[in-house]
Amino acid sequence: MRYFPIFLDLQDREVLLLGEGEALEGKAALLARAGARPRHVASFEPEMLEGVALAVAAGAPEHEMVALSRACRASGIPCNIVDRTELCGFIMPAIVERDPVVVAVSTAGASPVLARMIRQKIEAVLAPNIGRVAALAQRFQRATRAKFPALPARRRFLDAVLTGPAAELALAGRDAEAASAFAQALDGAAGDQPGMVHLVGAGPGAADLLTLRALRLLGEADVVVHDRLVSPEVLDCARRDAEFLYVGKARANHCVPQAEINALLVSLARQGKRVLRLKGGDPFIFGRGGEEMEALREAGIACEVVPGVTAALACAAQAGIPLTHRDHARSLTLVTGHTRNGRLEIDAEGLARPGQTIAVYMGVTTLAPLVQQLRQAGYDDTTPAALIENGGTLRQRMLRGSLTDVVSKAPSWMGAGPALLLLGEACAHGNDFQFTSASLAI
Ligand code: SAH
Repeated sequence: MRYFPIFLDLQDREVLLLGEGEALEGKAALLARAGARPRHVASFEPEMLEGVALAVAAGAPEHEMVALSRACRASGIPCNIVDRTELCGFIMPAIVERDPVVVAVSTAGASPVLARMIRQKIEAVLAPNIGRVAALAQRFQRATRAKFPALPARRRFLDAVLTGPAAELALAGRDAEAASAFAQALDGAAGDQPGMVHLVGAGPGAADLLTLRALRLLGEADVVVHDRLVSPEVLDCARRDAEFLYVGKARANHCVPQAEINALLVSLARQGKRVLRLKGGDPFIFGRGGEEMEALREAGIACEVVPGVTAALACAAQAGIPLTHRDHARSLTLVTGHTRNGRLEIDAEGLARPGQTIAVYMGVTTLAPLVQQLRQAGYDDTTPAALIENGGTLRQRMLRGSLTDVVSKAPSWMGAGPALLLLGEACAHGNDFQFTSASLAI
């Protein structure tokens, strides 16, 4: 190890800044954030080092910077000359700041660009609110030490709490609930604590359309409860040793009734597990996420919802169809083509009004009655339409034309994947770019 990493306490300490320019300003701002008192000077005199904790120089004449470097070395003051490693007593890392958590990355000056790339990767996997977890641990530090004076027991306890509901609630910004979960864990045996359920949107299928939050939770969950729309690619992001439970529903073939899924989630959480309920797209859009959330709430289980990219957004983005458009689509309506007791429940009059985009979920098998109801309400069947299968994935296919065209061709065109119907002038704007298995093979 060429450089030794440490974290300096610079609260109210004076820092000498020699020179000028953007680089120096940047360091000054950073030092001020750490509580230091920056003192700017244009030229260097040795007596200026009196009482100084640290010195930084950039954009000053060469001989001044060399003089500063020597004087600092002689008096044991750490000094950094920007971009002149050979003159430095210390070098500055790339940092990830999640106060009070700070991660510092150094390549010993070999490649600051690489250090920044590494920092970005850490930024992506480290929860933005991880600092709140640290603050929570700190708040209970004294109580935790009192309850577990011996380090091994204390470590075991903290391992459990800092990966459990208390930490998850803190990460979700629910500080008061986090504190009571921590206090509860401290009072009881850690094993008796109920787990938590995350209702997570898995997006349309492509793993890189998951949110960073969903990705993190996949890496932490003990059990993943998922349905048919969740792709293998997304499930691959879960912890290797997680338990996977399939509760998929195919239309008209309800494998596991909703009430049973609700009961399953409650029971898994009561066993103290970290439960991830993974749903295709967004959990609150035609995903029954609301029902599951209510069941959990009634059972007193903490629940957090993580949004996902819903099918309409994924399909439209990849097809290049702007869902809203200043000239011809002032609103977007998401409707379901699912029938209840054999009846379509749509507001045909409302949908027939021009100037909007309509996204029909679960509409493939009910296309004919849907279109019939729209026509009766005065909908123009030459309106552009697009039927998109496996939207947002490499297997996306699109059938585009007037509404009449699409409806007549749909039965022979449809594959086995989920499909969404988009209606409205906006559909005339899409591009015909699509992935085919042939282009994939290249
Ligand atoms: N919660 C999901 C929707 C569940 S309802 C979401 O937010 O996307 C199931 C319907 O969603 C399917 O019948 C289909 O109409 C649509 N759907 C889901 N994923 C899709 C995809 N990748 N491509 C096209 N349509 C999709």
